[in-house]
Amino acid sequence: MAKVSEVSDGIYLIDMGEVKGAGSKERLNCSLVYFMVDGEQTALIETSPGAVVPIVLEAIKGLGHDPARLSSVILTHIHLDHAGGVGRLAQQFPQLKVIVHERGARHLTAPAMLITGTKQAYSEEFEADYGPIIAVPEEQVEAVKDGDTIRLGDRELKVIYTPGHAPHHMSIYDTRSQGLFSGDSLGHLTLGSNPIVIVAGFDLGLALESIDKMSDLDPRRVYASHGSSDREAAEFIRSVRATTSDYGEIILTAMKAGEDEAQMIQRLEAYNKEHDPDDKRDTRHRFKAIIPWYVAYFKKKQAV
Ligand SMILES: [Zn+2]
Repeated sequence: MAKVSEVSDGIYLIDMGEVKGAGSKERLNCSLVYFMVDGEQTALIETSPGAVVPIVLEAIKGLGHDPARLSSVILTHIHLDHAGGVGRLAQQFPQLKVIVHERGARHLTAPAMLITGTKQAYSEEFEADYGPIIAVPEEQVEAVKDGDTIRLGDRELKVIYTPGHAPHHMSIYDTRSQGLFSGDSLGHLTLGSNPIVIVAGFDLGLALESIDKMSDLDPRRVYASHGSSDREAAEFIRSVRATTSDYGEIILTAMKAGEDEAQMIQRLEAYNKEHDPDDKRDTRHRFKAIIPWYVAYFKKKQAV
């Protein structure tokens, strides 16, 4: 059973909580899912992986809505933890429009590359836990770009192209609540110091530009995809930018000094201790996971 709460007028948060994979019994990486209502129109933002689609559908029914009448699914990006369930939903509900950034659209209708990337990021056997990635029928996909407006009843949702975490990442600004659905472009709030999520294809320059763009919108609140923050939106965005940028400077300095990964981890841990003294989690593992993508970025930019 998911935890469901109304976070703003007509916007509900569906939190899967701790779900274990059927195969490995490991905790699944699921994004939060938002359900939005305006009159007769309903939409989901993100789906979470295929394995938890039944939980999402139960939550929608629990709110008194019929999933067979969902108007659309809006995806911030197509990574497994956010969008793994979209093919299954689209095939089950042919009325559903799947709204995605134009750079992500072809990977939904022909997901071969997406499946290969998912195997690299998760495991060859990801399907046993997360469910399969299924193609979305072409006629159900609606590609959008920066500046477009998505309408849900009287609600206006603005598309803000926010690459960096992924080249096809977009955020969604709800003009009514002045809230921003930030996907993975504004930090993983379950991690200390809230750096933005760093994965293959990470581009630091674009990520910082995207953060500035979101900051310029001056949202009243941020609807993040992993965890929540009670900090004021502007202060939260400022801190994510600082951490993301400072990590980059620390790693670049270490690269220029010819330091190895262990020394970089030490530097990052020292930074983390100073900026987030209450963070008692396994930072070593976390930094080990992000360093290669920063290093790859700086090498590509020939910064060293
Ligand atoms: Zn992601």
